[in-house]
Amino acid sequence: MDISGSKEHPRTGRILLLGSTGSIGVNTIEVVRHLAGQDGPTFEIVALAGGRRATELRVQAEALGVRDIAIADESRAGELEGLGRLHVGEDAALELVRSVARPGDLVIGAMVGAAGIAPTIAALERGCDVALANKETLVAAGSVVIPTARRNGARIIPIDSEHSAIYQCLRGGRCPEEIERLVLTASGGPFRTWDIERIKAATVEQALDHPTWSMGPKVTIDSASMMNKALELIEAHWLFDLPSSRLEAVVHPQSIVHSFVEFVDGSVFAQLSPPDMKMPIQYALTAPARSTACSPRIDWTSFGDLKFEPVDHDRFPALRTALGVIDAGGSAGAVFNAANEIAVQAFLDGAIGFGQIIETVRRTLEQTTITQIESLEDVFLADSEARERARSLLTPGHAGT
Ligand code: MG
Repeated sequence: MDISGSKEHPRTGRILLLGSTGSIGVNTIEVVRHLAGQDGPTFEIVALAGGRRATELRVQAEALGVRDIAIADESRAGELEGLGRLHVGEDAALELVRSVARPGDLVIGAMVGAAGIAPTIAALERGCDVALANKETLVAAGSVVIPTARRNGARIIPIDSEHSAIYQCLRGGRCPEEIERLVLTASGGPFRTWDIERIKAATVEQALDHPTWSMGPKVTIDSASMMNKALELIEAHWLFDLPSSRLEAVVHPQSIVHSFVEFVDGSVFAQLSPPDMKMPIQYALTAPARSTACSPRIDWTSFGDLKFEPVDHDRFPALRTALGVIDAGGSAGAVFNAANEIAVQAFLDGAIGFGQIIETVRRTLEQTTITQIESLEDVFLADSEARERARSLLTPGHAGT
């Protein structure tokens, strides 16, 4: 997205935090508290949306004095009674945005999965900037989300560490015309050095044991399969308006360099910081200004080597599939994302092996006719059909094939 362009809506300093009880949400609250004690911009959180962790949501709302609250899980809503204006159910976050958001507010999109799409669109339509941590929103619905942002004079500011790195490096040149390529770094996850048969047979516990980042279960499993990097390549395509031929990934186990931008004259910019999400969250709040950090700094005295390795596409086939999804366009991103969400949940539930995650995604794509996306309804239709197809591929008759 345009990083220097004019904004039609001056920032209000109000934040609607969607996905407040997840790891990004909790870190966002820490950053907002930290900024309150600094010179520079400060923020007030005015709305909170969570999935099912009602106890944590209640504690957050009381501590922050927030009276507009959404919870997706209806069975947990009773725990929030008496707090203020409560929205409950599948569309709770969407209703929250519709009733609370004003032009110039900042909406933090940190929900997990395709559930983030509708609230993001609603926020952009209201002239709110969206700081986006939910990569599935752009993967599935980029062709609707980006034009909606442009039409409403709203910015999408990436929180994902790689895209935040690129966003920061892009202050060194014009995007897309001066960009040769973007290189996203990947930690390689817990299976970076494992052979292909061992990866296929990996357990849930092994897949959840990420070497550098502490994240929720969905994104941690995605990191182990490198599906996370695959989703991020598609996300980068939408955010920075570049074709698949100018998007790459490289394995960088230390997670210190968060991505590279190579300009047409051969100059390469990188953004470095310790693997802590408070840094990209804080930049999303203060950009293009900077405030003193609450996240750790690099200690150059104890700094070892920075290592880079090519991606092994035989062991981690998700990335090539993602580049094909970018080329296919249309509903391919929605299908890719939906099949992955179903397969990851099935793996976490013990229904399929680790190797079957990417197999399920690839076979769902193979068996689906990719269609044009004209509207959000088209996205949701492609999403629900792909979920159904992916589920049918998980049934015992198909398992292990
Ligand atoms: Mg990332």
